[in-house]
Amino acid sequence: NEDQFKNVISHAKEYGFVFQSSEIYDGLSAVYDYGQLGAELKNNIKTYWWKSMVQMHENIVGIDSAIFMHPKVWKASGHVDGFNDPMIDNKDSKKRYRADQLLEDKIERYKKDGKTNKAEELQAAMDDALQNEDLPQLKALIEQHEIACPVSGTRNWTEVRQFNLMFSTQFGAMAEGSDAVYLRPETAQGIFVNFLNVQKSGRMKIPFGIAQIGKAFRNEVIARQFIMRMREFEQMEMQFFVRPGEDGKWFEYWKAERLKWHKALGTSPEKYRFHDHVKLAHYANAATDIEFEFPFGFKEVEGIHSRTDFDLKQHEAFSGKKMQYFDNDLNEDGKPFGNYVPYVIETSIGLDRMFLLTMIQAYEEQDLSDGEKQDSRTVLHLHPCLAPIKAAILPLTKKDGLPEKAREIMDMLKFDHNLTYEEKDSIGKRYRRMDAIGTPFCITIDHQSLEDNTVTIRHRDSMEQERVAIVDLPKIIGDKVSW
Ligand code: ATP
Repeated sequence: NEDQFKNVISHAKEYGFVFQSSEIYDGLSAVYDYGQLGAELKNNIKTYWWKSMVQMHENIVGIDSAIFMHPKVWKASGHVDGFNDPMIDNKDSKKRYRADQLLEDKIERYKKDGKTNKAEELQAAMDDALQNEDLPQLKALIEQHEIACPVSGTRNWTEVRQFNLMFSTQFGAMAEGSDAVYLRPETAQGIFVNFLNVQKSGRMKIPFGIAQIGKAFRNEVIARQFIMRMREFEQMEMQFFVRPGEDGKWFEYWKAERLKWHKALGTSPEKYRFHDHVKLAHYANAATDIEFEFPFGFKEVEGIHSRTDFDLKQHEAFSGKKMQYFDNDLNEDGKPFGNYVPYVIETSIGLDRMFLLTMIQAYEEQDLSDGEKQDSRTVLHLHPCLAPIKAAILPLTKKDGLPEKAREIMDMLKFDHNLTYEEKDSIGKRYRRMDAIGTPFCITIDHQSLEDNTVTIRHRDSMEQERVAIVDLPKIIGDKVSW
């Protein structure tokens, strides 16, 4: 499994999906660039999300708010004071670790060694210490359980300290001593501060949602597992504003809805599970993660949080502006519900984690050997809607008018679909290259095509080929790749 993960990472680089940022300078840790195919796949995931959230819901609209926000936003949201990880340094290696991560690794080790009781005991003690922000207790647990630095092997630890995850920078003409501006650590606050702008200008009636896709930045201390945990990443978030008291119902609704979204891509259902939070963040009254079984275990891809009226109330308090909605629907007593600060259900998915999930799920090294000869291929079984390239246009040879005929087909299809044209190499090699990047269709133009206007269309997953009329291509491809 871990091996397969390594193969996916090198495949992603080899074919132009994901590169390490600033690679020629030995890279920048936990920052990645998307290459020519990665950018397409990422865009297609965004489109799938945007269409299903914004286009398919009459009462959800999308916005695009700025990365920079007023410094007070992050005071109001709690990020300045509370968006911390408990860190500990090893004095010998000078390496810094997340204290909870060290403990979690130990819990995993206990489990692997069959020491279930010890694992559970440590888990409970750690949860308690985290909940109470009891830093000395975290340190005590690290000592009691004899956790050594993975690099130096020693147990010479500093105290545990809180480390804020926000990146800060300065605006050009800021007076000395004034607040730093932050790179947003989540997109949600851009939605909260625009709640009334959108509600009024769009004449939105509760319940309604505001969606957004955008970059977020966190100074993660442990950067691991490729694009799982990055310092610059993208989120796709939706805040759904509801009447107080109806939050429980909508939380359940969005849980089910979001899982459906994941499963509609054809991913095996047993790869997904919910992980309900027992310990809740200060702003939440219910929270769950949608977890996917990555090669390194079940991990969060998406969070669904019932955030109460915490954020809007905080912004009322810090900005001095009302964040209320007037609800003229009638309640049980026949009176309007009147003014209130709405409750919020949020769905928040990491685009990069979804990208990784998609690559892992699609990747297969297939053995095609038969009795006589050894053969294999690497294929990405991407959902056709997500595939970076929908069809490859392949003239069988470079002469006899075949390239010209192929260009005609290309011109017919290129307005609707992202295509690639390739005339080099044997046809078999060209097919394999398309399999490796997940192209659902290969269209081969041969001499017969010049006579009867038919081509061969080859299907990626089954590798079956059929002869079809050129005029039928738009429908055949369109049916498979349209949303
Ligand atoms: P984790 O516990 O893994 O750090 P989180 O609970 O802090 O995640 P949220 O704040 O709920 O995450 O953010 C919502 C989503 O954003 C996550 O489900 C994840 O998909 C994504 N995400 C969060 N942090 C990162 C990161 N550093 N790199 C990539 N994606 C991230």
